[in-house]
Amino acid sequence: MYEQDCIFCKIVNEEIPSIKIYETENIYGFMDIFPLNDGHCLFIPKHHSVTMDETSDVALSEILIAIKKVAKKLNIKNYNILQNNGSIAHQQVMHTHFHLIPKDDTHGLQIGWEPKPSVNQEEIAKLINSKD
Ligand code: AMP
Ligand code: ZN
Repeated sequence: MYEQDCIFCKIVNEEIPSIKIYETENIYGFMDIFPLNDGHCLFIPKHHSVTMDETSDVALSEILIAIKKVAKKLNIKNYNILQNNGSIAHQQVMHTHFHLIPKDDTHGLQIGWEPKPSVNQEEIAKLINSKD
């Protein structure tokens, strides 16, 4: 569905311009307006959803295939796929999107990776089992 005040819905609807890189009936791919590197692009479902878990299976599957095809077409060998859900997790545009971000020595995604201290395998297993 179309959500008023959603910039990515407006992009799908061509109310806001974008540079298209991929399109099917269900998804749309376009160049990021503030790229972390040359070739940084975004893939979105045409139907509005906020987070990945709200997105249709069909759109999600097509997005992965689209990323694969575009990475090959642009001959991108080193890249990160980034998908943020929720403002605490750095989602700024509240319409589900996947970033394809080419990486080289100077530009691309910078990752901070700080494991939680003092976790052991037993605690990890307990956490998962308690959700059953
Ligand atoms: P995120 O932090 O995952 O929500 O990232 C949102 C991304 O959308 C950022 O990389 C922005 O540069 C990008 N973005 C925002 N507005 C536009 C737009 N009008 N066209 C293309 N990309 C956009
Ligand atoms: Zn939207």
